[in-house]
Formats: sequence, C-alpha cells, structure tokens
Amino acid sequence: MAAVPTLDASRFGYLKPGDVARLSEAYRFSNAAHAGQRRQSGEPYISHPLAVAEILADWRLDGQALQAALLHDVMEDTSVTKDEISDTFGRPVADLVDGVSKLDRIEFQSAEFAQAENFRKMLLAMARDVRVILIKLADRLHNMRTLEAVPPAKRRRVARETIEIYAPIANRLGLNALFHELQELAFAHIYPLRYRVLAKATRNARGNRRELVGKIEAAVKGKLAEARIEAAVSGREKHIYSIYRKMIEKHLSFSEVHDIYGLRVVVKDVATCYLAIGALHGLYKPVPGKFKDYIAIPKANGYQSIHTALIGPFGVPLEVQVRTESMHHLAEAGVASHWMYKDEATSLNELQKKTHQWLQSLLEIQSHSGDSQEFLEHVKVDLFPDEVYVFTPKGRILSLPRGATAVDFAYAVHTDIGNRCVAAKVNGELVPLRTELRNGDRVEAITTGYAKPNPAWLQYVRTARARSNIRHFLKTMQYEESAALGERLLEQALKGYGVTPAEINQASWERVTRETIGVTKVQLLADIGLGKQLPAVVARRLMMRAEGEARPHAKPASVVIRGTEGMAMQLASCCRPIPGDAIVGSIKKGLGLVVHTAECRHVARSRRAEPEQWIDVEWDRQPTRMFQCAIKVTVANQRGVLAKVASAIAEAGSNIDSISMEEDRSVYTTMLFVLEVGNRAHLARVLRSIRRLSEVHKLLRVRD
Ligand code: MN
Repeated sequence: MAAVPTLDASRFGYLKPGDVARLSEAYRFSNAAHAGQRRQSGEPYISHPLAVAEILADWRLDGQALQAALLHDVMEDTSVTKDEISDTFGRPVADLVDGVSKLDRIEFQSAEFAQAENFRKMLLAMARDVRVILIKLADRLHNMRTLEAVPPAKRRRVARETIEIYAPIANRLGLNALFHELQELAFAHIYPLRYRVLAKATRNARGNRRELVGKIEAAVKGKLAEARIEAAVSGREKHIYSIYRKMIEKHLSFSEVHDIYGLRVVVKDVATCYLAIGALHGLYKPVPGKFKDYIAIPKANGYQSIHTALIGPFGVPLEVQVRTESMHHLAEAGVASHWMYKDEATSLNELQKKTHQWLQSLLEIQSHSGDSQEFLEHVKVDLFPDEVYVFTPKGRILSLPRGATAVDFAYAVHTDIGNRCVAAKVNGELVPLRTELRNGDRVEAITTGYAKPNPAWLQYVRTARARSNIRHFLKTMQYEESAALGERLLEQALKGYGVTPAEINQASWERVTRETIGVTKVQLLADIGLGKQLPAVVARRLMMRAEGEARPHAKPASVVIRGTEGMAMQLASCCRPIPGDAIVGSIKKGLGLVVHTAECRHVARSRRAEPEQWIDVEWDRQPTRMFQCAIKVTVANQRGVLAKVASAIAEAGSNIDSISMEEDRSVYTTMLFVLEVGNRAHLARVLRSIRRLSEVHKLLRVRD
C-alpha cells in the first residue's frame, strides 16, 4: 500500500514563511478529513489535492489559492462544511473552496458546440474569482494525468469534457502549455489507437529529419548573427492533437501536416522582432499571404507574435514565430505568466491590459504585502456582468440578461410556455415567478392549460421578448373579451326595445359608429365592454329614427355572468361575489364590468350617485370555473392547527390561494384564507368541514 505523501516545503519556497505554515496546516486538515479515502489508483486520497497545490505552485499562485487547492475536495467528499473551513482558514479560502465545489456540482451533458461555449461561460461566470478557475484547471490537469486508473466509460466522458470545456478555457486565459497538455491527454483517452499511431509516426519522422533540421537551424542562427540580432532559436515540436485536427479539417495526409517544420525565434524587444523577420525573409523566400502580425493586432486572449511561412532548402516548408521574451512567457503561461515572471518589466498593449487587468492589480497588492480584504476585491472579476447562464430541464443552457426572472426563462424557452406558466422550480424547489435566476440554476417552468399572463409580470421581466409577448397577449385578450362582453351588454340593453343586435340594420350601425368613435362595429362593442360607452346610450342611438327619440317599452333583462368573461369582467375584491350570491354590475370607464354582491356597502352609495352605471346581472346556472372567496377562522392557538384547517379545506374540495395571520399571542389566532369555491353550496360544505374541528372558535365569510 502506498505511503501517505507529505508536503514538500521546497516546492513552495517562493511563499512567505507564514504562508508556508498555513499551507502545512491546510495539509494536515485535508489529510485528516480525507483519512481512509483512496483514489481509484489505490493511492491515499491526499495525494490528489497535494498534486493540485504543486501544479498551482508551479504557476506561482498565492498562499490562499494553495490552501484552497489542498482543501478543494473536502466539502464534496467529506462532512466538512464551509463554516468550518472559514473558522480555521478564513473567509477568502472558504470562498475559494466553495467556488470550486460549486463548479464540481454542475455537469455538462450536451454535445452541441454552441452549448459547450455557453457552458464555458457559465463556469467562468460562476467562478467570479479567477483563482477558482485556476484551481479547477489544475484539478482537471491532475485528474487527466492520472486518468489511467479510472474505468473506460468514465474515462471517455471526462476526456471529452476536458477537450470541449476545460482546454478551451485554458486557451482563453492564455494558458498555452496547459491548453496543449489537456488536449494531448484527452485525445489519447478518447482515441487511444489514433493517438498511438500518430505518436509513433511523429517519433519516426523526427528521426529521419534530424539532419535537415540541424542544417536549417544553423542557417537561421547564422543569418541572425550576421545581422547582429541577439536571438534564441528553437525548433518547435507539433502537438499530436494539432496534427490530427489539421489532417481531419484540411483533409491532409500525415506527412503533409507533419513535414512543415516549425521554428521559434525569441528576441529582446518589439523593434528587433521586425528586424529578425526582415533577416529571415532575406534568407528564405516567404510564402505569400502567410505573414501575420499578431504584435500589432494581438489575439483575443492576449497572444502576441509575428507569424510567417518560408520555403526552406529542398522546398521544405518552414513556419516561423518571432516574439519577445515577455510575449513568449505570456504565450506559454497566459495569465499565470505574471506570477511566474513577475520581476520582469512587462509592457502590455491595451487589449492585453484589459485581459489581465485584474492580475496586475493583484500583483501590486501582493507586493505591498497588503490587506487581504483589498486583495480579494481586486482578484474578483465579473467576466460576464450582463449575463446569467441557466439550465433547462433537458440540460440545455440559456443565456439571459442579469436580473432575469423565471418568467423571462419561460418565454425564452417558448412563447406558449411563457403564456401558460404559473410557477417555477429552481434547482428542484418551487419558487415564485418573480424569482431572479442565478448562474448555474436548473430551471423548470410549471404550466397549466388555463393560465394566462399577468399584467404584474411586466414589473419584473428583463427580456424584451417576455415584455412584448405579455403586452401583446394582454392587449389582444382584453380587446377580444371586451368586445364579447360589450355585445352581451348591448344585447341586454336592446331587449328593452324588443330587438336583438342581429336585427339592427347596417345603416343604423354605420350612423352610430360614425357619430361615436367613427371606426368599426367591433371597436364600438369593445368600448362598451371597457366601460367607455354606456350600453343604454348606444342602444338608444341605434334605435333612433328620423321621427325622433325612441323609448324602451320594457325593462331590460339581466346580463348573465358566466365566469368566462376574462379580463372584461372583474369580481369586486371588496365583497368577492360567488355564484349563488345576489349580484349587481357597474360599468366604469377603463374598468369594464365590475360585479359586486347586492349587499356590498360600496354599492348602495354609488348606485344613488350614478344610477346610469349600474346594470342588472345574474349568475349563469352553472358557471364552470372556481371563484375566490375570503373566510376568517379564529382558532385556539395550538401547534399544527393551521395544517388541520388547511386539510379540512382540501377535504371539501377547495384550494387555498393565500393565507394571512393576525399577530396575536393570546389563546386565539385569527387566520384569513382566500379560497376557491364553485358556488355558495360549495362554500357551505367547506365551512361545515372546518367547523367540525374542535379547535375552531369562530368562522365567517369575509364580505368587506
Ligand atoms: Mn479534485
């Protein structure tokens, strides 16, 4: 059995003594937490976090990051909590460990290219602190280096994830050496046979070319020396995965790709780069169209070099990169190069400055041996401040604007989902629709067939898509429903004249629409439904003859309330009428039809003041929907009594829409329920069911 490896302080010699002591402490803590655990290879588990810390030490990361590296798996794999880490090692280290653990918990499933890009962004956005990503990358590198011990199926999955997600992140951060190592390791595990064949072919080809390569290098060195240019010239080995990719993408044979000889020239400053290019173009003929100046225009990850292609002796193609030493460091180690080569004076252009801004400030603060709080602020970086990345239930990743809520999510999935959503689940828990989404959330919109967009959503949606869909829906709905109600209101008013709307001739309609709003019949009906036109007035106009005023000869019949009027009809929230109650309706401008109970105290006053607005209404014999009604229950203050009342309500076939409680410390508590019932008989059943409970002291329907 392998012995437990120990912390080799010499690997961390660049740290201050205090940091090394804290590192030993983290090592002991982690070793104790992982005690008894083994890796798949049979080694003690601590060998893994230790190796991760050593990789990060090679990148010269700070003490906090190294402590976090030693502790990075304790939250996931042992019972240690974030608070315990915080108590022992401080908040910054605990945040780093927590950050890495969060990344471990989200899993990438999709094979789509665009999804991989979103997933990478999600990881970067979740990390916030770039050190979290660096720890995660070192973790992945060590896992890839030891992937042999893992069962084949899992091996392939991890390798694929590495090549699709982590290698591109390394590339994006400019960690070139890491990028290539991750790619080579992943390729070897995804296509073991192809890797072996190509690796062997590369070894053989290298042997065959040794002599020619030596000649070319000597010629290049000679030419540069002649021009008095001080330069380090080296041959460049091609990576096996890059050869493979080129063969596949450009349909080339192995020798066509491999026989291009790569050469790197590193000089002291930018001016010398151009002098060196001039000298080389004088030595061998350049290939037209292959000259690229990434010094003037760096790549997005900050990479700088001049690339050119030459035709060498015997027609051998030569690819040459010319760069300064600091560009070379950046190309190899990316963001970490600042840690690794921090004593050197680096001159960064604008783009590089932007890419590595956070790192520079970090270095400044580090060198001032400074305040850890300030240090933490600077190391934090929000790579995508305007976006948030979330999963759909199928594992697809959606990018939404920061601050987006579950409603935005629902509309982003599909307009129909948005229009019919009633609630949402975030990471498996039921949440209100206004809930703001966070990076990495797994979101599911819950829909029902009868749900409709709510005007209140407009207050908290962030996407234009959700906003315009909600507006559009509300407008069309309200217009259609108002026109339908308007027609019924008019029909009722016309009954007094003994006619139906169908019996009104075209000429009368045209005359009235011209006089009133001058547009269409449907608009006039919608205006009636919205309360902008009184049905009695419109009816009188329609019935007007040349001879003069028409008078109704009978009392108009009641308008039947079916409960399907939608937004054109409101049940007054003061008295909450339900079928079976005696009701009256008022038509108010902008509100449309509002139905109150006949005994509601708001009714009597207004009916005297504005009799024109009031119309007779009655319930349809069998309305098909449920209606809200409020009840007040006073109960003995005992544990579990709310649950008893709620289940009594459910047993009677009613739903609870909301509950509020009066803050009362005495023996009784009064609870206010808003329920859904079909009619008065149903309400009576609900009340009987509640009254059966011995804890219930008082029970009544709220009518005001
Ligand atoms: Mn790990």
